[in-house]
Amino acid sequence: MGWRTHEVFNQVDELVDYDLFSTDPALVAAVERSGARWAAAELADYGAVLGRAETWRLACEANRYTPELDRYDARGRRIDRVSFHPSWHVLMQLLRGRGLVSLPFRDERPGRWAAWAAGFYLHGQVEAGTLCPATMTQAAIPLLQREPGLWSALGPKLYSDDYDPRDLPAADKASIWIGMGMTEKQGGSDVRSNAASAEPLAPSGREHVLRGHKWFFSVPTSDAHLVTAKTPDGAPSCFFVPRFRPDGSRNAIRIERLKDKVGNRSNASSEVEFDDAWGVRVGEEGRGVATIIEMAGYTRLNCVVGSAALLRQGLVQALAYARRRLAFGRLLADQPLMGAVLCDLALESEAALALIFRLCEAFERPEDPLQRAWKRIMTPAAKLWVCKRAVEACGEAMEALGGNGYVEPGVMARLYREAPVNSIWEGSGNVMALDVIRAVGREPEAAWALIEDIASGLAGEPRALAELAALRDALSAPPETLEALSRGVAQRLVLIGQAALLRRHAPAFVADAFLASRFSPAWGPITGALDVRGMDVQAVLQRAFPE
Ligand SMILES: Cc1cc2nc3c(=O)[nH]c(=O)nc-3n(C[C@H](O)[C@H](O)[C@H](O)COP(=O)(O)OP(=O)(O)OC[C@H]3O[C@@H](n4cnc5c(N)ncnc54)[C@H](O)[C@@H]3O)c2cc1C
Repeated sequence: MGWRTHEVFNQVDELVDYDLFSTDPALVAAVERSGARWAAAELADYGAVLGRAETWRLACEANRYTPELDRYDARGRRIDRVSFHPSWHVLMQLLRGRGLVSLPFRDERPGRWAAWAAGFYLHGQVEAGTLCPATMTQAAIPLLQREPGLWSALGPKLYSDDYDPRDLPAADKASIWIGMGMTEKQGGSDVRSNAASAEPLAPSGREHVLRGHKWFFSVPTSDAHLVTAKTPDGAPSCFFVPRFRPDGSRNAIRIERLKDKVGNRSNASSEVEFDDAWGVRVGEEGRGVATIIEMAGYTRLNCVVGSAALLRQGLVQALAYARRRLAFGRLLADQPLMGAVLCDLALESEAALALIFRLCEAFERPEDPLQRAWKRIMTPAAKLWVCKRAVEACGEAMEALGGNGYVEPGVMARLYREAPVNSIWEGSGNVMALDVIRAVGREPEAAWALIEDIASGLAGEPRALAELAALRDALSAPPETLEALSRGVAQRLVLIGQAALLRRHAPAFVADAFLASRFSPAWGPITGALDVRGMDVQAVLQRAFPE
């Protein structure tokens, strides 16, 4: 239907109906070199399914028609029911059906973490809210594997790729979801400040009743949560708290309210009270913080992958738009300044991807001391850096669409609203920076081995080696000073790590542009402020999203 007053022209639709996997040469190469070639056909298929206009529509609807809480039924009985738009269930089914919850734990093939990360990265580009339940469930697996009683009943349901949304006791379901509950009103980062209490049902028994609250409790519809609470001696332990008690009655977990969130709107996050809720201790008594921190080791990797996915999708949408949209008589993508902005985003995206796949290698072989160093020290640094870069990048990518980027419903608005949460939950930026120096302090030899490994990839590269020297210098500062320097330490560690990885795995025009920009005083804090002289901008953009 035409307008009577004007013609619509030079308006560019958001990119849909494309294959997310095969249009990403860096991803395809990373899967290949990580030993996950066996997953490539499945990933290509999933990339095509996700890219369909229909899947984008589902993602839009799931975030527009957000979950609703009914605390009571019509006659006043407590039901604590959360209802979702049907699109949420389709997206959850897609994610679970592709093995993206438990694949790296149940599959023994080399490249299992890389295969999982690639699928998660594809899914997260289209819909991010569904990643939250998958992340927490995945992270619960290694803890529950060590609890023979629970594992024999729950293991097959955690490994299952069937999606079972029914609100029934876990025993009656094909598959289950697990959440985690630490954060209380008085403190989230400081889990030791937890006030929720756990009384043993019998002296020295593992069964407890929990009393208190959690201020953030995502996926309250999960079949169970792993919850921190203090036992009578005042020490925090970790408890498996199911939605239904063993006798089949509903457990006393009262959902008080759903959070009205900036983004992540498809996913339900809640406030809950435990009114003598039944729970069984997992992990060692009094070691609840250590138990839950082990889980966080996995959820933090998930945050890095989720943020890299947002960054990638922002870049692709911006590039596709700029290649069609004219301003001042020329395509935006052909204009030198927009080229610099897009090139900077592309470098950030490929560097994030390279880091993810290096971490996947480390997660796959943690028994090797060097891999363990990458896993333990680089994961929190990557969580700090990549999640923060995604916030900046999503804002910049949105701006590449001009005003069209800032309106609803739109992919860019969703990416932008989603980005900050990965930086906040599972350990906020400062907590990550402090974790990096804590890990270095506890295992200095591992840290030096990691730094040496990175240095070996930077031979003949004076700018990066100068950064490395500055990193070594900062790490030798006294503890109070080092704490204040810790964001800089994490940033340097990531940047030199990414530089070494790109030199090893990316084409020279990408690695050289990364090195020339990231260690130049001209770079940052705004995207696109890079000296493009000597960079092959068009080659970088063509690789980022070939056309
Ligand atoms: C959408 C959403 C869903 C969530 N879902 C869950 C969930 O399912 N389960 C759960 O347990 N939690 C959940 N959380 C909570 C989240 O993990 C916490 O918000 C986070 O850990 C920070 O805790 P806090 O909010 O209490 O902030 P605080 O701990 O008060 O921190 C405030 C700020 O101080 C900084 N800070 C803290 N300590 C230091 C220090 N020593 N030095 C310097 N700076 C410091 C932090 O980095 C942060 O920037 C969720 C949060 C959000 C936003």
